[in-house]
Amino acid sequence: MENFVVSARKYRPSTFNSVVGQSHITTTLKNAIKNQHLAQAFLFCGPRGVGKTTCARILAKTINCQNLQPDIEPCNECESCKSFNTSSSFNIHELDAASNNSVDDIRNLVEQVRYAPQSGKYKIYIIDEVHMLSNAAFNAFLKTLEEPPKYAIFILATTEKHKIIPTILSRCQIFDFNRIQVQDIARHLGGIAEKEEIETENEALHLIAQKADGALRDALSIFDLIVTFSSGNKITYQDTINNLHILDYDYYFKVTDELLANRMGQVLLIFDEILRLGFDGHNFIIGLCEHFRNLLVCKDEATIQLLEVSDGVKKKYAEQSRNASPSFLLSGLNVASACDIHYKSSKNQRLHVELALMKLSHLNSLISTNQLAGEAQNGELKKKAVA
Ligand SMILES: [Zn+2]
Repeated sequence: MENFVVSARKYRPSTFNSVVGQSHITTTLKNAIKNQHLAQAFLFCGPRGVGKTTCARILAKTINCQNLQPDIEPCNECESCKSFNTSSSFNIHELDAASNNSVDDIRNLVEQVRYAPQSGKYKIYIIDEVHMLSNAAFNAFLKTLEEPPKYAIFILATTEKHKIIPTILSRCQIFDFNRIQVQDIARHLGGIAEKEEIETENEALHLIAQKADGALRDALSIFDLIVTFSSGNKITYQDTINNLHILDYDYYFKVTDELLANRMGQVLLIFDEILRLGFDGHNFIIGLCEHFRNLLVCKDEATIQLLEVSDGVKKKYAEQSRNASPSFLLSGLNVASACDIHYKSSKNQRLHVELALMKLSHLNSLISTNQLAGEAQNGELKKKAVA
């Protein structure tokens, strides 16, 4: 294999516009640069892997660019940009507070701040995981943060904003980064796959995006992993569920079909098959809750956008949703989530899930015999179903 570079590094955004899913932040930063209202201390908060350090680096590069583009993007061609892109610029200092959290580490940094940049306009100090700094280190840092020299800009990043002391908070301009939407991640992965000439199935990309739970960096490493495992240039849905050990969503569609048809025996057999494949009963019941939730969401045009799945799967949900009454889904959710809550404390966990499935397979007939009062009786039905 020729030099393999992980996608998270190879496709790290080099301009504000290429940052995924954080336009509220990149736009504000660009405006600040344009109007020369740039703060000297920033606090970037948000979950891991959503682009905090990336944005900090782009900001550093942009304000030092010798040939700033009209759309307030770095040119990526001048001396300064080049040195940033090859990580050889002297104007950027990164400190990982997770491993360098002592007073001495901060004193070293403060010492460096005293020297003006040799070339370029700004020196940028990025302190990652800033909440890990010791109290003494925080205090040593405070004075510099209060009266920094004109050329110094501090970007503090944290995944745990609530651990930052108020004296620091009040001195920083705060930016809250979003978890990145499944659709955005999937689209981004699709773009990379195209550049790498890897054929992909849409469902596979959505699954990876879901598994990454809003963190683009995680999505990219899962993506790399599956490319490696699936021997080269194709990523299929099947490869993905095998590699990630995710239960095929088809099982949930099958189980729900059987539940709607009151075929308890079939449901129990499918559950047995799932267990024999090595899946965990608890995960199955949580997945079933999600499935019911997705079917409910499908009932309303307005909420259909809350489905974070590919278009092909969306159609399947819409179809099954038409066969399931809201009463069935609501009561079903009740039974399934009660099973989820009590799963850990149950002595016989298999039986615990089976019991829930038995209740669920009688739900539809129970509802049709009670149809007289319709929606208004929902509350009653739930009680009966759970009892
Ligand atoms: Zn430049």
